[in-house]
Amino acid sequence: MAEESTNAGRVVLVTGANRGIGRAIAERFVAGGDRVATIYRSGDLPDGVLGVVADVTDTAAVDAAFTTIEAELGPVEVLVANAGVTRDQLLMRMSDEEFESVIDVNLTGTFRCVRRASKGMIRMRRGRIILISSVVGLYGGAGQVNYSASKAALVGMARSITRELGGRGITANVVAPGFIDTAMTAELPPERQAAYKAAIPAGRFAQPDEVAGVVQFLASADAGYISGAVVPVDGGLGMGH
Ligand code: NDP
Repeated sequence: MAEESTNAGRVVLVTGANRGIGRAIAERFVAGGDRVATIYRSGDLPDGVLGVVADVTDTAAVDAAFTTIEAELGPVEVLVANAGVTRDQLLMRMSDEEFESVIDVNLTGTFRCVRRASKGMIRMRRGRIILISSVVGLYGGAGQVNYSASKAALVGMARSITRELGGRGITANVVAPGFIDTAMTAELPPERQAAYKAAIPAGRFAQPDEVAGVVQFLASADAGYISGAVVPVDGGLGMGH
């Protein structure tokens, strides 16, 4: 059996912790006593978070950022792959570049981080990988062929990691948020926001911290036997996935 980790004092890496959901996740782990780092592109960070600037589309930059974080804090035990983008466009008008750029951040960017993190986790014989997907991954979204495909693919990724590394004390899970109050949803036209709220059984969007609490649970000792799961945080929007 893998050595059990305590809940606090671990090295936690959250990508994109400068704003939105990633910021709320990083704040949660800091409050829980973990040593938190982020790979981020811009902006400011919450207190207590070690930031290394890197773009997740750049393999060498991601690898170097991990090396810096490991040197400063130690091996990454919890990886939260949160960085993500949307570039909505109707299918017929979507360019290769609009499709590929979203895949490069949301899917390949996650892969780059997971691959690098797995080295230390395998050595430690423990680790928690949490991939931030979206309700849209399995529910679909008009104008979101690129985004939805990138987010659905994270389910296959987490389940393959579970099969490959589950015997080494490593879990991999997907969190699928619904509509969360961040810059990403603020961009939606008011009439679309109203239509979404009408379709959500909870009747509201969520706050980023409501996602952060679920992520923190999946990284906790209590969640040690949960792997390959897709955990919705969507007010009931995606029921039946
Ligand atoms: P935001 O747009 O507020 O934040 C996105 C974060 O990702 C920012 O920190 C951004 O950095 C970072 N990022 C984007 N591209 C890159 C890149 N190439 N390299 C490094 N960092 C990058 O989004 P949210 O907080 O709303 O979303 C966070 C995650 O949650 C995303 O994966 C998103 O798809 C997912 N999600 C969000 C939902 C919502 O309703 N808000 C619903 C479901 C899922 P920078 O500030 O430099 O741009």
